[in-house]
Amino acid sequence: ATPTALLVGTGRGAQLGILIKGPEVLETTRSVDTAVLDKTGTVTTGTMTLQAVHVAETEDEAEVLRLAGALEHASEHPVARAVARAAAERTGELPAPEDFANVPGLGVQGVVEGRAVLVGREKLLAEWSLTLPDTLAKATEAAEAAGRTAITVAVDGRARAVLEVADAVKETSAEAIVRLKALGLTPILLTGDNETVARSVAAEVGIEEVIAEVMPEDKVDVVKRLQAEGRSVAMVGDGVNDAAALAQADLGLAMGTGTDAAIEAGDLTLVRGDLRAAPDAIRLARRTLATIK
Ligand code: ADP
Ligand code: MG
Repeated sequence: ATPTALLVGTGRGAQLGILIKGPEVLETTRSVDTAVLDKTGTVTTGTMTLQAVHVAETEDEAEVLRLAGALEHASEHPVARAVARAAAERTGELPAPEDFANVPGLGVQGVVEGRAVLVGREKLLAEWSLTLPDTLAKATEAAEAAGRTAITVAVDGRARAVLEVADAVKETSAEAIVRLKALGLTPILLTGDNETVARSVAAEVGIEEVIAEVMPEDKVDVVKRLQAEGRSVAMVGDGVNDAAALAQADLGLAMGTGTDAAIEAGDLTLVRGDLRAAPDAIRLARRTLATIK
């Protein structure tokens, strides 16, 4: 290989907002045939907003939101940020939790003002043998059918409310998918979120294949499984959750707007967080290779 051509390739890459770890990365771009895309923060903006609060009959909506927000204030998750922000706006300063634990892929649990609080997926509540009353189960169903993420709040061992949060698809994501397909890659949407929400986002951007409700530690196994089927996998992600999968993938592309863990694990960094940089990077690398042959 001629170092000059590589320099040109990477220089142009820098202009496009693509950072390449090393020249050996270029070779892999030729073989990749599958693009696994993380949903939150990669295909979507990752900036979630609280859309609605549904309470079980006798509950005080503001109070449930205040307790949930206080606990979520200690978490960095996009869902947590949406809940904490809305709670602070509506109820003022949030108390600091006396106890807090993040449960990856499920939610948060802890103690606020002496009360046991859980905020997260229904599955988190199920782990504590808590079930949703009919009204909240219906609210969850309706929210998910509308493409929103439904989060349950339990206080002192009882499910009290369902929070609807929504994330917007990045304006550039649909075009990025068209470009990936044009390069011969099959896109797959991968997420810990529920199937209905995942399907709705996928449909919006033109992705046919969805792998949903995947626990953070299992994302890497999804990549391994695809590789075992003989596929060559490009993975695009932004979260701590995505780091192992990015490292396992044949080509790991990290969103520059994402976490340090993801950036360290990736072969390429897409500086601007614009998904179109993924097909751009692959096309540029393939062209650079063609030049130096
Ligand atoms: P993704 O793959 O979409 O980035 P995660 O694996 O981080 O999502 O989380 C999966 C799901 O778990 C989220 O969609 C959300 O429903 C729930 N969840 C995770 N963390 C939290 C939290 N701090 N508060 C509420 N819900 C959460
Ligand atoms: Mg993400």
